[in-house]
Amino acid sequence: MTHRILILGGTTEARQLAGKLDARADLSVTLSLAGRTENPVAQGVPIRSGGFGGADGLAVYLKENGTDLLIDATHPYAARISANASQAAHQAGVAMLALRRPGWEPVEGDRWTVVDSVADAVRALGATARHAFLALGRQEVAAFEAAPQHHYLIRSVDPVEPKLRVADAEYLLARGPFREADERVLLEHRGIDVVVSKNSGGEATYGKIAVARALGIEVVMVRRPTLPDVPSAETIEALAAMVDHVLEPEIERGV
Ligand code: NAP
Repeated sequence: MTHRILILGGTTEARQLAGKLDARADLSVTLSLAGRTENPVAQGVPIRSGGFGGADGLAVYLKENGTDLLIDATHPYAARISANASQAAHQAGVAMLALRRPGWEPVEGDRWTVVDSVADAVRALGATARHAFLALGRQEVAAFEAAPQHHYLIRSVDPVEPKLRVADAEYLLARGPFREADERVLLEHRGIDVVVSKNSGGEATYGKIAVARALGIEVVMVRRPTLPDVPSAETIEALAAMVDHVLEPEIERGV
């Protein structure tokens, strides 16, 4: 008996988890992507792409495809799909787990200003012109048009379109992971005096935070959104172990 698992992805961990679970003969894995990134990295497992049409649409998908387990492995700031997932799993009567990457904690020497939203991050830059490095998604950076006095260095996976209506913005296209040594060169050469970041957690994008600490640069850190309370694990290994636990009752009943 093969158990069907739908993994909501869009992160490196989701791809790795999917690969790990799909290698098992008793599991059939589909990885779901939002379909926003123009050139997504190869995922190595069967994928489906695009929104489901809200929680109701996802619930229908889960039923129609005979899904046994839904795993939310989306980015910690993708709050809508996480909320939809929890609601849909409940509606469809499907078990659900979440892979929740822990956030970064400030350490000695960090100069973090923690804010609740991107709009608050814009305000936190203040009135005086600064050289800000925006390590945010392309959808979020538009908010910085409200503070056109600053100089912006904007890094995103896909091009920011339309460009910001500000006097000075430079755009970098790059996909992590980013090495700390490279981040240091970037921040020093561009004269960056403030970094605006999400608290993504993990190693892949921590370099800029470590470099900011070393150089005494302020980090405006956008707080994580609240996510639904579902059984979760912090690592791929721990989550993979929970999968058996969740599917076991069915296996024992011979379902
Ligand atoms: P979001 O605001 O939580 O979701 C917006 C809508 O996009 C959802 O309602 C859903 O559409 C669709 N969607 C999102 N993730 C999906 C998935 N894995 N499969 C199918 N549909 C999905 O999400 P977001 O912040 O725009 O992020 C979009 C994707 O990029 C996610 O997969 C996330 O893991 C990834 N990502 C996000 C960030 C970030 O900072 N937000 C960073 C890195 C990667 P319907 O309602 O129509 O189903």
